[in-house]
Amino acid sequence: MGSLISQENNSPNVPTNPLDPEEFRRQGHLVIDFIADYYKSIEKHPVLSQVQPGYLKKRLPDTAPYNPEPLETILQDVQDHIVPGITHWQSPNYFAYFPSSGSVAGFLGEMLSSGFNVVGFNWMSSPAATELESTVRDWFGNMLKLPKSFLFSGNGGDVIQGTTCEALVCAMVAARDQKLSKFGRHNIGKLVVYGSDQTHSALQKASQIVGIHPENFRSIETTRSTSFALSPESLKVIIYSDIEAGLVPLFLCATVGTTAIATVDPLGPLCGVAGDYGMWVHVDAAYAGSACICPEFRHFFDGVEGADSFSLNAHKWFFTTLDCCCLWVKNPNTLVSSLSTYPEYLRNKATELKQVVDYKDWQIALSRRFRSMKLWLVLRSYGVANLRNFLRSHVKMAKIFEGLVAMDKRFEIVAPRNFSLVCFRVSPSSISNKASSDQNGKTDYCCDANGDENSVIINEVNRKLLESINVSGHVYMTHGVVGGLYMLRFAVGATLTEEHHIALAWKVVQEHADQILTKY
Ligand SMILES: *Cc1c(COP(=O)(O)O)cnc(C)c1O
Repeated sequence: MGSLISQENNSPNVPTNPLDPEEFRRQGHLVIDFIADYYKSIEKHPVLSQVQPGYLKKRLPDTAPYNPEPLETILQDVQDHIVPGITHWQSPNYFAYFPSSGSVAGFLGEMLSSGFNVVGFNWMSSPAATELESTVRDWFGNMLKLPKSFLFSGNGGDVIQGTTCEALVCAMVAARDQKLSKFGRHNIGKLVVYGSDQTHSALQKASQIVGIHPENFRSIETTRSTSFALSPESLKVIIYSDIEAGLVPLFLCATVGTTAIATVDPLGPLCGVAGDYGMWVHVDAAYAGSACICPEFRHFFDGVEGADSFSLNAHKWFFTTLDCCCLWVKNPNTLVSSLSTYPEYLRNKATELKQVVDYKDWQIALSRRFRSMKLWLVLRSYGVANLRNFLRSHVKMAKIFEGLVAMDKRFEIVAPRNFSLVCFRVSPSSISNKASSDQNGKTDYCCDANGDENSVIINEVNRKLLESINVSGHVYMTHGVVGGLYMLRFAVGATLTEEHHIALAWKVVQEHADQILTKY
């Protein structure tokens, strides 16, 4: 036993203290240099990681090291083994999903937050964490011109959650308990949740967690004629039939900037319908909400005053690192009455005197990160003026891309562009008669994919095109399917993207289309 201990202590580079400030300074600089170098050469990597499943297990040892290893060695392994398995979300050639726009301010805010490493569950546990959070989101709420009823100053309130999924669970729990306090808890099986077929899957997940009967989840069909926005008339019809069946409408999620094509649901009319039936309306503006700090985009929020809660991911298109979802609610008491607990060890005077907000009662977990720090750094380091300009430049680049697509007759824009997302595809008329007439003898192609053979072929062409683009590693885009129609999504918003990257991306698309179309 004694020999084992002395052996451990004899190890050459035993750190004296895992939180030694001078070691932090030295190693911290190494890591910052590493990250800065990564950004300088980020375009050298294939945007979409090209590794195969299980690649890393082959490269790393099966057990953790017994003795310490120097940071220099670890960073070399990050370079050699981790970087190849990274999909480079911060690459200027990244146009997939929605952006996860990083920034120096966001990274440094994250660093400060990690550096303090506080666990701010209630006010007492770190007053600055709570108070900065309230301040920063009131700033942000004002920038978005949210109605006062959502802000602390107007009896509403806001909280930073990790993700939209969590925000939706919290809002739905509050709505559920409010409703069941009237109807009786035994009626939980009658509650109905509504969204459209374009609503993010987070709504379904939330309704599963919250205990909504799986058959009472409504994914209302949208159509091309309304640009795939949720129609208030369709909502009304379904609510009628649910009420006739003895069910209780509970919750509607409307979206500003849907996941597939960034369409915008008509908030005012939808809130009107939901209001008639005493439903809770949540507005999910995860990606597109950021744009509404620009006056020219603010109209997309028109009608939000009729909603009960509203959320936006600052970690998507607002230069703040993952995770940072801002949730505003009109009646915070509903959240608190569903989510609060008050164990003995958290009892304190400030809470008892009701002088403070304890955010543990506004979220799922007890412990919480100091996320407002990074949002504060982003807002202060860039200011409203620059933030608007950054977002506008992304929208402008999306417009440029849209223009390039429109000039090439082989392609078509699939859905109207509202923000920085362009949805396009090889158009049915561009596949020559060769393959299709060989296969089915038809030459008139149907734009509304209804599962007929031409649609199957054109979907396959577009799927192959996307795959071939992404395997090239030059750019990364993802796909969407609306109304049975497969399309490529080009989402601008990576912080490093400049106009020449847009031109390059389009060239890549064209080259791969040239190759693929020779076969059709
Ligand atoms: C990204 C996105 C979500 C999911 O956000 P998370 O923070 O990952 O939960 C939900 N809704 C919309 C519209 C989104 O774009």
